[in-house]
Amino acid sequence: MIASIQTKNQSITRTLQDFFSDLLKTGAVDAVLVPSRISKSPYVKPCLVTSADQMDPTVPLGPGFFINAGPMVSRLTRTRADATIGVWLRPCEVRAFVELTKLRQGGRQDVVILSMDCPMALSRKDYEDWAAQGEGGLGDVDKWIHTVYQKPVTQVDAWSTARACQVCEYPYPVNADVSVMLLGADLDKEIPVRADTEKGEKLLAVLDLTDNGQEPAQRKALLGDLTADRTAAFQAMDEEMLTRTGSIDALNRFFSACVNCHNCRSVCPVCYCKECVFNTDAVAYAPAQYLSWADKWGQVPLPNDTVFFHLTRLAHIGCTCVGCGQCTLACPSQIPVADLFISVTRNARKAFDYVPGRDDAEPLPLSVFQESEFTDIVGMGNKEVT
Ligand code: SF4
Ligand code: SF4
Ligand code: SF4
Repeated sequence: MIASIQTKNQSITRTLQDFFSDLLKTGAVDAVLVPSRISKSPYVKPCLVTSADQMDPTVPLGPGFFINAGPMVSRLTRTRADATIGVWLRPCEVRAFVELTKLRQGGRQDVVILSMDCPMALSRKDYEDWAAQGEGGLGDVDKWIHTVYQKPVTQVDAWSTARACQVCEYPYPVNADVSVMLLGADLDKEIPVRADTEKGEKLLAVLDLTDNGQEPAQRKALLGDLTADRTAAFQAMDEEMLTRTGSIDALNRFFSACVNCHNCRSVCPVCYCKECVFNTDAVAYAPAQYLSWADKWGQVPLPNDTVFFHLTRLAHIGCTCVGCGQCTLACPSQIPVADLFISVTRNARKAFDYVPGRDDAEPLPLSVFQESEFTDIVGMGNKEVT
């Protein structure tokens, strides 16, 4: 089913806020998870809203993206809540949540996933500048919306979108129950929405929306342009990463400003271990060990294990990085962590033909073993094993 929500007061923000209110008023959902401003600051966080008249602080679409909500939805669905929650997620948040469900860290039973053509994100500094230019401590969200959905852009006024967004593989809904199709839509008039699952159909039916079967006429062509631009941007980034990290020396230099704060791990939505090995005694070395390393190499930088930490993370999330860019946003040393992780993992998962979050039924590559992989691993190519 494809239907349209009529735009109200020429504001997409208001229209979406009312849409969420209607979901609550009609009982289609018991709560909505949606980005919302905290204490009138420009910063937004995913907030669980249960009251239809509490939508004013919410910012459903904007360039502020400082936490991937995938793990928040995982938190809300670890056990059954006897309630239905509508979760409004960017595509990389949906995909992160789906990956977590495969690790039994959450489930889809009690959520209806609403996703959208993504409004992209700004770096923290650019976001603060953008917010400072607007009224009431927030930038002009509706202007942002009208700019980013007309044609593929990487720049809005003085602000460049985050590099993770510039190379994003899936800036449109994947594996959602309801997809909001803003790209190429006549947003002064309407917002097209599509039900992609039975759950999505039921949700739209409650709102009495009429099936008109029409995606925005320009959307397909714009998605094609967007994909071509982002593929080219990814290739450029991939080559840059190879130059900047293609040897142990280069990798050490890339991470030379790393202070081992582990922020990149804390914000990573798919860094899934319940207990990180870097928080355990496994890396609490005896003092004599440091002295012995210093004797051996002439010096040992402290904190140590910085590159080892990143290599371990790369091994753990090699197939599941959803490219959200949060690790770069959170790094106090301004290391472009996501550029490296996106490059390495996108290349690595090609070997498994795996796309994180694409399909709930697709098992995590490292949790299953296919006979054909054996021949690759033991270096026998495709020769028959006897
Ligand atoms: S990485 Fe992709 S899905 Fe995530 S915020 Fe950026 S454009 Fe959106
Ligand atoms: S490694 Fe970085 S880009 Fe990849 S999922 Fe984690 S936070 Fe997002
Ligand atoms: S956030 Fe930056 S400084 Fe902190 S551990 Fe990660 S790369 Fe190192």
